[in-house]
Amino acid sequence: NYDRTLELRIMRYTEGEYLMVVRDVSQLKQLEGMRSNFFANVSHELRTPMTVLQGYLEMSKDPEMLVGPMWDKAHGVMTEQLVRMNSLVAQLLTLSKIEAAPNIELEETINVPAMLDILEKEAISLSGEKNQQFTFDVDKSLHVLGDAEQLRSAVSNLVYNAVKHTPDNAAISVRWYLTAAGPRLEVTDSGDGIAPQHIHRLTERFYRVDKARSRETGGSGLGLAIVKHALSHHDSQLEIESVLGEGSTFSFTLPRRLVKKAA
Ligand code: ADP
Repeated sequence: NYDRTLELRIMRYTEGEYLMVVRDVSQLKQLEGMRSNFFANVSHELRTPMTVLQGYLEMSKDPEMLVGPMWDKAHGVMTEQLVRMNSLVAQLLTLSKIEAAPNIELEETINVPAMLDILEKEAISLSGEKNQQFTFDVDKSLHVLGDAEQLRSAVSNLVYNAVKHTPDNAAISVRWYLTAAGPRLEVTDSGDGIAPQHIHRLTERFYRVDKARSRETGGSGLGLAIVKHALSHHDSQLEIESVLGEGSTFSFTLPRRLVKKAA
């Protein structure tokens, strides 16, 4: 493997003898690269709305500038940008919280059907005038053990993404049921679908298929990274199947040992 970064150190050992230490620092370099990339991304994401806000603040110095319809527009744009910054910071906090707890105890009882019930109401409200058609097919007796906050983050990100990427009046279905392998959640949308070359990169932080569109829908690009980490803490992983122009299914299966047995 030639893609390695080696660090070479020569130290004096005894009189006339030297010690040569070769250290493989490839992984360290890669981590450093990822970290600086992450900070560059966060800064960029925050800077864009801040620049817009700064522009309007400058304009507001002139009392003639932001009046009548101009003020209405400015107010709308500023609110939108602040909401965007707020949701980015909230997603960053969720991600850092999840990453900081790699060995969580999976011992909370999670009433997933109740969680999905609330999520269904939230999804309908988020859908609003898009009037998408929701089907929630939920095994009411299937409760699991795990970390409620993390699992909720994972499931809600998948459902909200389905709402964001599905056209008006189209169908979205959520299924929660027990398979031989364990409890399984499927979120199927009838949205844009995703081209195969993007699928394996979707859980990278800030990776978006269409940056402009994701920003328009208020996306931070961190949702699926959160899902990936939360699921990995539950010994599970995200599966993505998609057909361009037809829709996608995002799903995961939890290990069978996490089924909460009825008392
Ligand atoms: P975002 O905040 O941009 O939605 P995510 O991490 O949740 O960030 O998703 C990353 C990207 O994956 C999105 O920008 C979008 O391009 C794509 N994506 C996620 N969910 C769907 C979906 N249900 N249908 C089509 N594309 C999706």
